[in-house]
Amino acid sequence: MTQGNRPKIIVGNWKMYKTIPETVEFIQALIPLVPNPACKIYLAVPFTAIREASVAAEGSNIVIGAQNMSDASEGAFTGEIAAAMLKDAGAKFVILGHSERRKIFKETNDFINKKVKKAIEEGLQPLLCVGETKQERDTNQSQVILEQQMTQCLADLTAEEVKTVIIAYEPVWAIGSDLAASSELVEKEHQYLRQFFFQKWGQTSAEALEILYGGSVKVANAKQFLQLSDVDGLLIGGASLSVETFSKIINYQNLQLA
Ligand code: PEP
Repeated sequence: MTQGNRPKIIVGNWKMYKTIPETVEFIQALIPLVPNPACKIYLAVPFTAIREASVAAEGSNIVIGAQNMSDASEGAFTGEIAAAMLKDAGAKFVILGHSERRKIFKETNDFINKKVKKAIEEGLQPLLCVGETKQERDTNQSQVILEQQMTQCLADLTAEEVKTVIIAYEPVWAIGSDLAASSELVEKEHQYLRQFFFQKWGQTSAEALEILYGGSVKVANAKQFLQLSDVDGLLIGGASLSVETFSKIINYQNLQLA
């Protein structure tokens, strides 16, 4: 398959960290540190900070998004948040199917599929996370699991609809563990995911698909992943919480290879 001309995307996933003042302070500090980024910068902030983050990021290269959303448009769903509400607050994308949502909140592939469809319908860019557990990798189930997650989470989508979807390959064992996957493993699984797109939606979709790697990305290993031809960016948890480390990763072209 020939290579598409895909821009790199660096995404910060703040999880349940940072208040509104901390968010604004972070974005104001980040903007001058990344004046000419060679990549797109996405930041998934807590719901409460989306509005102020969007205002603080106005006129910059930083795109603000959310970390989850409801599969429903509106209704009696206490504690949930709808796509239209996220958009209203300024979100442009939403992380869906993160392994923490799958594990702790028992989200299934079918449920995530409903959210993906709803996000597309409402004009929010879905960033779908897939990845195997340690036990699944140890028993050679990784690609079976990836295929299941992709098939079910992206069920019923047309080539047109799937165009806006970003995939993040996040092996569960690598998240927050300081045990990042090897470059070889990441390249192999990204190729597998791109091949899946090729078979399902054809060459144009596969070449345009942006696949990010996530799992213990740090300043020391970011560049090695970004140099791989099937890695189109990074999804970063812990290292996105410090403006110093996040900006260094965004400016990865200045980093030395470890
Ligand atoms: C994540 O939360 O998606 C993630 C990859 O976390 P970390 O970078 O801390 O491993």
